[in-house]
This record gives sequence, C-alpha cells and structure tokens, in this order.
Amino acid sequence: MTEKGRRDFCIECRKETEYLLQKKDIVKNIRDMEYIFAITVAVCAECGVRRGNGHSGSY
Ligand SMILES: [Zn+2]
Repeated sequence: MTEKGRRDFCIECRKETEYLLQKKDIVKNIRDMEYIFAITVAVCAECGVRRGNGHSGSY
C-alpha cells in the first residue's frame, strides 16, 4: 500500500499532479445548533487548488 504518489489530473495545471490530503473542519448551523464536520480535501501540490472530495461542488 503506497500512500505517497497520489496523483490526479488538475484542471489548473492541466496535467497530472501530486495531491495532498488535508483535514479541514467546516461548521454548519442547523436549527441554531452548531455542527462541526471534519472533512478531507485534496489539494494540488503544485498550484494549491482544492479539489472537491465528497462535497457537492459544481465547478
Ligand atoms: Zn494544480
């Protein structure tokens, strides 16, 4: 199992680049209650553009 060398196509770099996985906390307010979700986002190691990962983002 190789964790390093995770590569995917980056639309900014227009080529395959290495990706870094970063933990990110997002806070949502639902019915006056604060919920904190810990999500993992993939970030391009070269340009730093974040890739949507499991999140419904239309880009
Ligand atoms: Zn990139």
